[in-house]
Order: sequence, then structure tokens, then C-alpha cells
Amino acid sequence: MTRSISILGATGSVGTSTLDLIERNRDAFAIEALTAHSDVAGLAAAARRTGARFAAIGDAQLGQALAEALAGTGIGTGAGEAALVDAAAREADWTMAAIVGCAGLKPVMAALTRGGTVALANKESLVSAGDVMTHAAKEHGATLLPVDSEHNAIFQCLDRTQVDRVARIILTASGGPFRTWSRSEMAAVTPERAVQHPNWSMGAKISIDSATMMNKGLELIEAHHLFPVGHDRIEILVHPQSVIHSMVEYVDGSTLAQLGTPDMRTPIAHALAWPARMAAPAERLDLAKIGSLSFEAPDLVRFPALALARAAVEAGGARPAILNAANEQAVAAFLGRRIAFLDIAAIVAKVLDCYDPPSPSSLDDVFAVDAQARRLATEMMEVKAA
Ligand code: NAD
Ligand code: MG
Repeated sequence: MTRSISILGATGSVGTSTLDLIERNRDAFAIEALTAHSDVAGLAAAARRTGARFAAIGDAQLGQALAEALAGTGIGTGAGEAALVDAAAREADWTMAAIVGCAGLKPVMAALTRGGTVALANKESLVSAGDVMTHAAKEHGATLLPVDSEHNAIFQCLDRTQVDRVARIILTASGGPFRTWSRSEMAAVTPERAVQHPNWSMGAKISIDSATMMNKGLELIEAHHLFPVGHDRIEILVHPQSVIHSMVEYVDGSTLAQLGTPDMRTPIAHALAWPARMAAPAERLDLAKIGSLSFEAPDLVRFPALALARAAVEAGGARPAILNAANEQAVAAFLGRRIAFLDIAAIVAKVLDCYDPPSPSSLDDVFAVDAQARRLATEMMEVKAA
């Protein structure tokens, strides 16, 4: 049977990996909708190749360009934030949520409200609006499938009938490009250096998050919402080879792990075919060649983002949304060369220090917290630059 698919963020790293798998299995899938932020040419080419029914560009100024690029194809087009939501709201069996940042939240909510299956890569939306999102999924009978490699690994190892028999979830982390660096060595790194991840090829924002290790902090909060074992039972373990993607330890001492080469097409394929399995072209694991796997405890002093995220998940309420919004602003400023690498976590800490609103209970509340945290982060960065 053909599965109808929509991809939100189709031109990004996760989006193009998803398209790659689909294009290798043309008979199994039909594309309903594709979205992108500003890459009109990339979006139009993907829509033509796959015979998508609808394509939406997030930047409202680019609507005309997209319509022209797809003229005569019969593919519907739309532009602006509302068009992204329209794309997500169209009937599809399976939706890939691969927009980066909180910009993906409204489209993800539209897909969940439809009650379909949503493969979630866009961790920032779950970090910001975890309770609102998981509640909507439950209410509308939607299924959330984790695509983040660690969470996909946990999903594969977790026996859902024995959640109360889980002793620990062990979230592995590569440690990023600066795993062995001192704070003074990190002080002067450029965006070009910081995006060079040792194991994974990814978009710029998540690559910077991996370098500060905020990525693992966001993943801790993501895991807390996806796997209800209690955040105090989710531990972070540095594993530089990125072979074990995460583990679940049960009360009897059994620890189950999922292993693979660092290629997102494996967890994406797992979610695409779920509950079945499909072939994926990722390089096979050659453990004899790798020889040995190593592990170390995370260093919360050199990577303060981890401690900030742990405190945010413990406190709950608006704290994770503030952490995420301040981090998005700070990462964008670092990529734009307006602040230094170590300023990223420092700005996040400052915003968390000076802003403590009540718990958001609706999506509007989450957006209000998100907007205020961004304003505060921007103000602090302006003061710093002045
Ligand atoms: P990317 O930057 O390569 O792609 C982002 C996609 O989102 C693009 O299609 C872009 O057009 C779209 N987009 C960006 N800003 C937008 C906006 N304001 N409005 C609408 N669309 C917008 O990012 P990526 O690396 O593919 O990551 C996507 C998400 O998946 C992130 O949340 C990331 O944390 C998560 N993730 C990525 C990887 C990976 O290997 N790349 C692994 C795990 C999780
Ligand atoms: Mg991950």
C-alpha cells in the first residue's frame, strides 16, 4: 500500500535524507506536501521530482517565485507562515517534522491535530511546548515517532508495557567538536570551526548546539516528554564514536542498546516504515574495524549548557521554552559573528535568571514566553556589543 507523506523542512539536512529514502522506494510512497523557508529552487525541484501535490515556502516574499517555478505542473503553491500550517494540515498518512527551531511549532501542531503519524526531528518545538504538544497528540489520537537518533534508539529499546520497570535511560552524546578542549581554547572559535561535527553532517543550528552540548540538553528535555520514566532517570553519557545511539536499562540489570553508523537515514527509515522495516543505504557497522568504544562522564563545567537544561527540565513550567528561545537567538548571533562561542550559554543563563513567568497552559502562552525570552536575549546581546 502506498503511504502518503508530507515533509516540513524538505530542503534541510533531515528533509533531504527523508526524500532520498522515499526516492529509492518510489512505489511505496506518494508525496502530499513539501515545505521550505527560502530555498525556492530546492523546494521546486523536489516537488517536481516527487510529483508533490502542494509546496509551501515560509518566506512570504517568495510566493511569486515559487508559483513561477512550478507553473504548469499542477502542483499547488502557498507562501508565508499560514501556508506552512496549510501544508501540515493536509491529509497525509505520515508527516516528517524537520523544520529547525520553534518556527516548526505551529505546523507540527497542525499535523498532530489531524491525528496522523508525525515523525519528529524538530526537537525545539517539543522542548518549548512539550506538555501542550503531548496533550494534543493524545487528544487527537496522533502518533509521535522520534527521529532524533538517540530518541529513535530509545524508542527501539523501550518495552512500552514495562515503562515502570525502566531503571535508567542512558542518552549518549558524542561530546561534539570541542569535547577535549579547554574553555580558553573554546573562547575564540569561529562559526566555521564550530559547525564541523566529528561524526554527523547536519544543519548549522544543531551543529552549534552539538558544539556547546546544548543539543544534549535539549535532547534530555525531548526524552522527558517522549518517554515518561521521570527526568531523574535520564542520564547523559559521552560516547565519542557515536556507535551506540542510546540505551535503556531495566530493573533486572539488563541494558538494551541500539547501534549503527552515524547516518540519519537509519532512524528516518525506522520511522518511515514503522511498524515495519525498510532497507536504508547507511554504511554497515564494522565493529572489528572500529575496535573499541569509549565512554566518559559529561563535563558540566566546560559545557554549562548541560546544567542549564537539567535545571530547566527539573523546574519545568516555562523554563524549557525560555532556555530554547534564548539559545536560538544566541546561536543565530554566534553564526552572524555578533557574539563569541562561550557567550551562547552565558546569554541563555542570563535570560533564565531574569525571566520567570508562570507555566504556559496554551500554545499562545508558549509563543508569548518564547517572544519575551528572545527579546531579552537580543537586548542583552546589544548591551554587550555597545
Ligand atoms: P537544516 O537547517 O538543514 O534544515 C532546516 C529546514 O527547515 C529547511 O528545510 C529550512 O528551509 C526550514 N526552515 C528553517 N527556518 C525556517 C522557518 N523560520 N520557517 C519555516 N521553515 C524553516 O536543519 P536540520 O539539520 O535538517 O534540522 C532540522 C531539525 O531536525 C532540527 O530541529 C534539528 O535539531 C533536528 N535534527 C537534525 C538532525 C540532523 O542530522 N540534521 C539530527 C537530529 C535532529
Ligand atoms: Mg540527536
